[in-house]
Amino acid sequence: MPGTTRTQVGIVGAGPAGLVLGRLLEREGIDAVVLEARSRDYVEHRLRAGVLEQGTADLLRALGVGDRMDREGLLHAGIELRFDGTGHRIPLADLTGGRHVMLYGQTEMVKDLIAARLESGAELRFEVEDVALHGLEGNAPSIGFRHEGVDHELRCDVVAGCDGFHGVSRGAVPADRLTVRSREYPFAWLGILADVAPSSEELVYTSHERGFALHSLRGPTKSRLYLQVDPGDDVEAWSDDRIWDELHLRMARDDDWVLHEGPVLEKGITPMRSFVAEPMRHGRLFLAGDAVHIVPPTGAKGLNLAVADVKVLGEALVAFLRGGDERGLDAYSATALRRVWRAEHFSWWMTSMLHQDPAAADDPFAVALQRAQLEYVCTSEAAATSLAENYVGLPWARRTLDAPMNRVPRRMREERG
Ligand SMILES: Cc1cc2nc3c(=O)[nH]c(=O)nc-3n(C[C@H](O)[C@H](O)[C@H](O)COP(=O)(O)OP(=O)(O)OC[C@H]3O[C@@H](n4cnc5c(N)ncnc54)[C@H](O)[C@@H]3O)c2cc1C
Repeated sequence: MPGTTRTQVGIVGAGPAGLVLGRLLEREGIDAVVLEARSRDYVEHRLRAGVLEQGTADLLRALGVGDRMDREGLLHAGIELRFDGTGHRIPLADLTGGRHVMLYGQTEMVKDLIAARLESGAELRFEVEDVALHGLEGNAPSIGFRHEGVDHELRCDVVAGCDGFHGVSRGAVPADRLTVRSREYPFAWLGILADVAPSSEELVYTSHERGFALHSLRGPTKSRLYLQVDPGDDVEAWSDDRIWDELHLRMARDDDWVLHEGPVLEKGITPMRSFVAEPMRHGRLFLAGDAVHIVPPTGAKGLNLAVADVKVLGEALVAFLRGGDERGLDAYSATALRRVWRAEHFSWWMTSMLHQDPAAADDPFAVALQRAQLEYVCTSEAAATSLAENYVGLPWARRTLDAPMNRVPRRMREERG
């Protein structure tokens, strides 16, 4: 075949997972090729996540791609939970020993990673077509694809499937080797990007009888706002005026807080689902990020999970490709899944606490339970700390059940003197 080449790691997909993995390997002197189906322009402007856990931000810095994030991103020490017209601040940093989240758009992070890769001369091909994975169960897998009208075969030691939920990698695993667990939610998010300065310095998560609303930000001059809508809604049915009216209704606070309106630059509806396929490995194929798990966006975990996966995978690949040590690769799926399921639970829990389930609207018991949960999180340091440590992100190496906590909770220590 005219286009037969070789690399150590073939990476399918140039989203956060594929690009961070590529950068990690490049810094360790491991050869990799990143193949992306879309154009550079499309990938760099696809509006998605914006909350980086502290560990994600620290990793980007360590990989030498954190300078612009540190200049332009916004470090946040808290979030607000709002219900019944009152805001309740969850002081994330105070509750987690000083850990923060960084508000920096996924688009910006992707731009930084692409620029760094192209500058280093490491291979990254956009607009590849007909990607197909072969020989995954042996020691010499390959990726077939078409680029600029030429058929190629990329021979690799390992393939990293980082091609998102609709990519081809997960489908390359025989169905009887994957266990899928999933949940669909009876609502979706209508998201807008507005050309107006944020109305609040921190994110505001609002629970209202008409449905959830979220105020987020993208820098000092842009606001990102979301509304819970019906998953069957057509975005065209939501005029800008209707969106602002609904945001005003749901986010109203009893004091002088004002929601600033501005031109709507973008809007779209995103379905909400939870999804995990296990294991995250099939032979020499390693799946990472949205290719293998999805969370509803309420916990701001999707992008961070993708990065956490490839941090674990990258280190395992370095040990394998440098010294033939396979232990990290063998442990990859189990290690990553522990974090994945923690994030799945947190995202489901935040979603359930803050959204209105249409099926539960006539169930006073369900409504009272939800209210009790909200009040608990806003009044108990223990409950708020649990939210905070999940939100800012748990340590990369999670405690396992065979290494139990031996700590006495702080309040009990104080009581004992
Ligand atoms: C509309 C939307 C809004 C979101 N909002 C939030 C949010 O507010 N907060 C949050 O935490 N998370 C959010 N997420 C989730 C978050 O953006 C994802 O979890 C994150 O992008 C996962 O990164 P990834 O690299 O695994 O996958 P992706 O970002 O999906 O990247 C996969 C890449 O693979 C490419 N690809 C696909 N098929 C092929 C192929 N056959 N060959 C080659 N390349 C291919 C795709 O074009 C893409 O560039 C949102 C997701 C969506 C879809």
